[in-house]
Amino acid sequence: MLILLNLKTIRNDINLIKEAIIKYNCIPHEIPGERKLAIGVTGPTNLINEEEIRKMKSVEEVIRITKKYKLVSREMKEEDTIINIGDSKIGSKDITIIAGPCSVESKDQIFDIAGRLKEMGINFLRAGAYKPRSSPYSFQGMREKGLQYLDEVKKEIGMHIVTEVKDTETIPLISEVADVLQIGARNMQHYSLLEKVGKINKPILLKRGMAAKVEDLLLSAEYILAQGNYNVVLCERGIRTFETSTRNTLDLNSVPVIKKLSHLPIIVDPSHGTGYWDKVSPMSLAAIACGADGLIVEVHNHPEKALSDGSQSLTLEQFEKLYLKIKEIAPIIHN
Ligand code: PEP
Ligand code: MN
Repeated sequence: MLILLNLKTIRNDINLIKEAIIKYNCIPHEIPGERKLAIGVTGPTNLINEEEIRKMKSVEEVIRITKKYKLVSREMKEEDTIINIGDSKIGSKDITIIAGPCSVESKDQIFDIAGRLKEMGINFLRAGAYKPRSSPYSFQGMREKGLQYLDEVKKEIGMHIVTEVKDTETIPLISEVADVLQIGARNMQHYSLLEKVGKINKPILLKRGMAAKVEDLLLSAEYILAQGNYNVVLCERGIRTFETSTRNTLDLNSVPVIKKLSHLPIIVDPSHGTGYWDKVSPMSLAAIACGADGLIVEVHNHPEKALSDGSQSLTLEQFEKLYLKIKEIAPIIHN
């Protein structure tokens, strides 16, 4: 349910409406936005006496949301959500580029890559310290040591850190370093993890599960918003299909589909989406062209020696060429 309020509504009236909602065991969410004053309501909203709410002071309209997901829907919030991280704004007209290796592998590796990306003008560094690998025998990440190197990079080079949190236990530790916490494809439906990151005050990058429909992704995002964290960035990273010529099938359809259904920013991961470095640049450009708010790209100083995902990683030189093209086409698409 969505309650639209008069733009001049005073705090006391908002509080009275919220109290009336809570009485029905429902949860009121003040929807952040500049153009409208609104309260989203989740919970057993069918119990609410709509007439009672409609008659309250300052209430202009009471709307039932028909979709299964509520807070993430465009019905609930018309304008795009913009997530501010330092001077960067994810979801704005400026494309967000997140780049870096799949995993932190050593201090030298992460400092070399981060330093060169920063020189190119990249502000977001991706790198996993805790890696959810399909095989228990694969490299699992440097864990705490990796996190420590990311913290040093953040302080010495000055980049925003995007790194994965794969279980509830490590949320506090990772939150100390990460500017954006990534929930990986394998954990998109780890609901207790989603609820926990919904309670922290950090942006979340939520990747689409490899067998998840767009609706499943939006419902997973809803878990996070429902706990009060409205700073969620969605990520299309490819899904499993019958096609085997690439690692996953990058479903770029999802970008305009999500843009219509939700106000949340959506970025694309062409690295996991294709699995091969030579497919990464063309699909990055395609992602920008179809309206994605940004990219998350795997870049390595020595892809041939990478401990994870080397075959889909761009070299720094390849990435720089791609980045120059992105800077040319992005303003044409996102004007
Ligand atoms: C990653 O970003 O390195 C990763 C493991 O991605 P995904 O969860 O999309 O497989
Ligand atoms: Mn990876």
